[in-house]
Amino acid sequence: MNKLILDDLVARKINQGIQLLQGQDFKNFSLNDQVVGLYNSKQDFLGTAYLSSQNKGIGWLISRDQVHLDEDFFIDLLTRARQKRQAYENDELTTAYRLFNQEGDHLGGLSIDRYGSYALFSWYNSYIYSLRDVIIAAFKQVYPELLGGYEKIRFKGLTYESAHCYGQEAPDTFTILENGVHYRVFLDDGLMTGIFLDQHEVRLSLINGLALGKSVLNMFSYTAAFSIAAAMGGASDTTSVDLAKRSRELSRAHFEANSLDLTHHQLMVMDVFDYYRYAKRRGLSYDLIILDPPSFARNKKQTFSVVKDYHKLISQAVEILNPEGTIIASTNASNVSVEQFQQELEKGFGRIKHRYLDLKQLPADFTVNKADKRSNYLKVYTIKVE
Ligand code: SAH
Repeated sequence: MNKLILDDLVARKINQGIQLLQGQDFKNFSLNDQVVGLYNSKQDFLGTAYLSSQNKGIGWLISRDQVHLDEDFFIDLLTRARQKRQAYENDELTTAYRLFNQEGDHLGGLSIDRYGSYALFSWYNSYIYSLRDVIIAAFKQVYPELLGGYEKIRFKGLTYESAHCYGQEAPDTFTILENGVHYRVFLDDGLMTGIFLDQHEVRLSLINGLALGKSVLNMFSYTAAFSIAAAMGGASDTTSVDLAKRSRELSRAHFEANSLDLTHHQLMVMDVFDYYRYAKRRGLSYDLIILDPPSFARNKKQTFSVVKDYHKLISQAVEILNPEGTIIASTNASNVSVEQFQQELEKGFGRIKHRYLDLKQLPADFTVNKADKRSNYLKVYTIKVE
């Protein structure tokens, strides 16, 4: 095992509990795709890490101890992760949630989700991918009741991004349950699956009263999962807006899975800024507006970035919001802190009176590294506008 001597700044980060190793902290660096022992300048052992460059960082601290990445190691890691999720396992109304979450479960670069009887592995770098056989073997020991698994490749360099990886194959699309609501999902069609599991607490709040009796506008709706939750929670009507043509049929599948009649539920394939103009022209207005843009997006006309442009989503939303209306403002941008996000929202509200009712971050199945705020990337404010 190679030894990596850290300078004092990086050693301090490790001692603080940071797991992500970043390129800017290592000079003259050429090691990649291997396990290393971390030492400080006095040659004290600090921990075991693996190096592999990925979109964020060049590697991850795995443990403060000397560890070997064999099947027993992964069985132990996965078993501890399973124990943390007993509440989800015992909840008969929910069959899809995260089983293993990167650094929150002490192994950055890997996440595993449960979708009904199937597992979905996401590999974020080539080193963790090289361990897939031993990880999947360990997983099968810890979750013998699951029927099979799929994988998503979330790093560059392979010729495929999605595949079946063990056991039985799942149907092309099937239904999962979340808080008693049905969603149609697919595990082998690109990187997406039909639902973003990290938003389940936001969907629960919509089911549990936030949407009751309200007209709801769901911007960047993808498969309209928020609209489904709102409809199940008694919304009077919903409008879902997404640029992607495919969003329409995928959204319809979620509505049908819950026997919801589409009469009061509109699906619009449109740019959100065009929709704001369209709604204003027609005098349309809403009681609840949900904003959940991608961190960064480029279309034919423009680019959208959370740091630069979120305030425009807010100021436009306010113009078509009914009196005493509510805005749910979400971002999953890990490079934007809670404070920066709130500043951006403030810029959008300007002089308009508003009250923050709630901030949600990642739910308990999406475990985070408490020592590193960046790992809690989700930020969802519920805001009452007066
Ligand atoms: N809110 C969704 C997830 C949104 S993912 C959910 O809870 O499931 C981001 C979505 O934004 C994608 O479906 C993408 O097609 C859409 N999108 C990106 N730019 C857009 C734009 N300018 N106007 C409308 N939709 C856009």
